[in-house]
Amino acid sequence: MKLPIYLDYHSTTPVDPEVFKTMAPYFTEVFGNAASRNHEYGWTAEAAVEHARLQVAQLIGATDKEIIFTSGATESNNLALLGVAEMYAEKGNHIITSPIEHKAILDTCAHLERKGYEITYLEVDQYGMVSPESVRDAITDKTILVSIMMANNEIGTINPMAEIGKVCKEKGVLFHTDAVQGVGKIEVDVQKMGIDLLSLTAHKIYGPKGVGALYVRRKNPRVRVSAMVHGGGHERGMRSGTLNVPGIVGLGKAAEMARKNLNTDIPRIKALRDRLWDGIRSQLDEVYLNGHPTERLPINLNVSFAYVEGESLMMGMKELAVSSGSACTSASLEPSYVLKAIGVGEDLAHTSIRYSLGKFTTEEEVDYAIEKTVSTVRKLRDLSPLYEMAKEGIDLKTVAWTGH
Ligand SMILES: *Cc1c(COP(=O)(O)O)cnc(C)c1O
Repeated sequence: MKLPIYLDYHSTTPVDPEVFKTMAPYFTEVFGNAASRNHEYGWTAEAAVEHARLQVAQLIGATDKEIIFTSGATESNNLALLGVAEMYAEKGNHIITSPIEHKAILDTCAHLERKGYEITYLEVDQYGMVSPESVRDAITDKTILVSIMMANNEIGTINPMAEIGKVCKEKGVLFHTDAVQGVGKIEVDVQKMGIDLLSLTAHKIYGPKGVGALYVRRKNPRVRVSAMVHGGGHERGMRSGTLNVPGIVGLGKAAEMARKNLNTDIPRIKALRDRLWDGIRSQLDEVYLNGHPTERLPINLNVSFAYVEGESLMMGMKELAVSSGSACTSASLEPSYVLKAIGVGEDLAHTSIRYSLGKFTTEEEVDYAIEKTVSTVRKLRDLSPLYEMAKEGIDLKTVAWTGH
């Protein structure tokens, strides 16, 4: 067993060896520019790109012509939001999203706000879920786009995509989703879910970093986005630039594998995730699950450990490559904006750990992670006067603190 144990598959995944093998020739022998129309080198590269386009389309129930290759989901999200905002500016200036989206959505929305667009950030419930009714209520005659993530990258909550899609269709408003954490983990179908634009990235599904895609619907309705990168008219004019052929080949292969292995990999990972949670909660009291109990990604476990100090917890479990609920900013330790938005108090937010599992996670690793977590939390609680007082039945809220 290799230490530290990688339990951070939400952040990135290793390239699957089979994906790597498929990509390799496209760095050396098959190096043509997919836009070179005059010779064999170009044609071969183009054929590989078009094959990958189909592989990606099939993962989400789209057609190949609806896939635009990008440098990753950050760019896909930017292209969706900025491209729709510019293209449909005459129709309206209102966009609806949620406060717990990835920064690639939130920062892009903030940019649009500075440009005069109006953004509505819908409230989410205690599990981080967006209600279709709140989407309906927020739509005005100025609304041009609803952008709601398929599944949250911190707490794993899965949104009711089909229901939100239905509301958008009824109201004639475009529906974009950041589906980075959904694809490859749950079944995704842009038709059944009523999705008009969808962002995904290769490196979260065992493909390489720096390549992704944006799905742009071509029928019912035909969606158009203004280009953000100009120069040559690649990707049907929506995203210029010489295509990253090896990367795209890798994304295609990763997408194909994700689709084929969905029903075998995912139940196995989910069972390991459940084993991790059962192991932790059967041995420790005062541990709290963040995110939805059932509508959650099978790879995600986000837990707050009461009465321990967040930073000490992370330091005490260096053998586990996990992510914490605090984000180190330059000056202070800020609790996660996602946990804040679902009402997790600052103390609990600071002690939260996000475990995310993947297809290379083993039972042995999970058992080690349980043991490490339990022993570290116990050790820290043994040193905690607060935990001791709580155990003695003292209501900490009634204690008159001094020195604060
Ligand atoms: C990782 C991630 C992104 C960013 O994708 P990149 O390809 O790394 O730019 C966007 N949204 C979500 C939900 C993510 O988890």
